[in-house]
Parts: sequence; structure tokens; C-alpha cells
Amino acid sequence: MALEFKLLAEDDLARLGKINTSHGCIDTPAFMPVGTYGAVKTLSPKALMDLDAQIILSNTYHLMERPGIEIIKKHDGLHGFMSWERPILTDSGGYQVFSLAKNRSISEEGVTFNSPLNGDSIFLSPESCMQLQSDFGVDIAMALDECTPFPIKKTEAKESMLLSMRWAQRCRDNFKSETSGLFGIMQGGMFEDLREESLEKLIEMEFEGYAIGGLSVGESSEEMLEIVNFVSLKMPKKSPRYLMGVGTPLDILNCVQKGIDMFDCVIPTRHARNGYLYTSEGTVKLRNSKNRDSTDPLDPNCCCYTCSNFSKSYLFHLDKTREVLGSTLNTIHNVYFYLNLMKQIRDSIKQNKFKAFVDKCRDTWDNSNYPHIEK
Ligand SMILES: [Zn+2]
Repeated sequence: MALEFKLLAEDDLARLGKINTSHGCIDTPAFMPVGTYGAVKTLSPKALMDLDAQIILSNTYHLMERPGIEIIKKHDGLHGFMSWERPILTDSGGYQVFSLAKNRSISEEGVTFNSPLNGDSIFLSPESCMQLQSDFGVDIAMALDECTPFPIKKTEAKESMLLSMRWAQRCRDNFKSETSGLFGIMQGGMFEDLREESLEKLIEMEFEGYAIGGLSVGESSEEMLEIVNFVSLKMPKKSPRYLMGVGTPLDILNCVQKGIDMFDCVIPTRHARNGYLYTSEGTVKLRNSKNRDSTDPLDPNCCCYTCSNFSKSYLFHLDKTREVLGSTLNTIHNVYFYLNLMKQIRDSIKQNKFKAFVDKCRDTWDNSNYPHIEK
């Protein structure tokens, strides 16, 4: 079955929907935990199932580098390789054009990376990127694009966006799958007219979904939100809208409010390993000495495995002694928090009470408690 999106309800601009794939459905707004190398750090696929993660994100470039496509093909694709039965989305490698800028060169044909691991030369073209994601057998593939840095001059943003759009067309022409969908990625930096031009070109190519790329690359939350606000109003209503690489819980609420359906970010998993935990009462910095002898759970209102069984004192101890279990328990809690947030968002949209839910959350959370995230 190919990808199918149903818009079920709207509350102002916020949308409730469902994406059906051949590996199961995804309720939207959705958050996708990040499993770059085919593993969400510290969590087994069973733990992810217990958390009711409906989809995870993995990465074409990194999987191509290690273990390589031949090994994944021997397992009939990424689902078999990592033993995960639910939907998978793979990013195309466009983000690595940005994050590995010192190790790559771009031409009309594609991107050549010099692997930081072993110096091997790795070439990714729109055509090979589509072939790889098709061989992975993922449910949602992403077009190859050039993710630009922030800030960038308008002339450079335009040239890059036009290249990304020519690549998008080549991706569309070469992606042939009966069972999965391809999303186009909008670029254009912080320039509204370039974003609009990019989106119009993508819509003409008719993708199964549309993503906003090139954000969460160093701009402020306010600048990010301005672009999301501008483009989301112009994005097709009948297709899923995916904001790549975002964000904090507050970013997610703000962007759902603008009509975004899908998110991914390393924040909950990376922060968990560093002892930064999201709770219903605000953020907890586990390494703070006041947690050393606290027999309270991390979050008295949380039903996750960690909060149901362990005290802050025990989690503090595991972190202090660098026990791997500490990272696992922290990650279970943060991923539960994110997925439970999405569930509460969906429930509030269904009941036409989303704005009240946002206001309640804003009163409790403080984004500024968190250090800047580098992917
Ligand atoms: Zn918890």
C-alpha cells in the first residue's frame, strides 16, 4: 500500500491526521525519535514499541557509510536489519551537506563526501539517493537537497535552492515504489520569496508530502517560527507537512499551532544522556546535587517505566557512576514525555481545545533552561 494521508480534524490552523503506510499508521501531529544508524541510542526496538513510538527516523548518508547498502539488502531492508516492524522515514543526506560542510564538494551531478571516518570518497546523487532509500525499504523517503547554513546571503540561498529543486525533480523522476512515499524538501533560507518559489516548484512535482528544510541550523526560535508561519499557510492541505530537525517541546507546540504535522529531533535522546529531563513541572537537571538524596520520582505525574520504578536519587547515582542503564532510563523518560505530549496535542485538537492546552504548557515550561543543541 502506498502512503495515504487523511486530515481528520482542524482546530484553527492545528491539524489532526493519520498517515497510513504498509508498516502501520502514524497519528499526526507526530514526533519521530532519531535513530541515525538504525538504532535510537540506548533503546531497543521493544522499548520503542512499549513507548508506542509509531515511526522512527534514520539517515541515508550514515547508513550508506556504515554498514553499507549490501549488508542492509541481505536483511531485505532496514526493517529486517534493525528488527523494527513499524514505519521508518530516512533523511536523504541533505543535512550532512550542511553538517559535514568541510568534507564535501557539490556539483550539479550530486555531492561527494570525504568520509570523516576513513577518508573514503562517497558520492550521493539524487538518483543514487532514491535507489538507496528504495533498497532500505523505508515508508517515507526524502528528496536529496542542499541544507544551507545560517546566515546566508540571498544570492547564495537562491542558487542553492534552485539546485535543490533541480535535484528534487530528478528524485521525483527516479523514485519508483508501490509501497512508500517521497517527500520534497523546501529550501530558501530566511527569505520568504525564495521559500515561496521553492514550495511552488515542489507542488508542481507532486510529492506525497512536503518538508521544511534548512531550519534549526542556528537561527533563533522566533526566526524559525516566522518562516514556518509564512510557509505553512501556503503548503497543500491534503498532504503531510514535516518540519525537519525541530525541536524543543515549546517549538513543537508553536509549530503545531501553525499547521505542522511531523517533527524529528535529537533533543529528547541527547538531552537524556546528558541528564536534562523534561517533566510536567518544568525541566530537571539530574546532576544538580539536590537530586542526590531525593526519593521522589523524576516526574510525579509521569507514568513511564522510569518514573514508575526509580527515584531521582537512583538516577543521579547511575549518572554519577556512568552506568549505561542511567542513559537508558533517562531516554525512556524523555521519549515518553515527547510522545505523550504529541498524544495530548492530538487529543486537544480533537476536542477543539488546543489553544488552552498550549497556554497551560507555556506557563510551566522554560526553553531557556536548555543549552544550545548541536546535532
Ligand atoms: Zn517518566
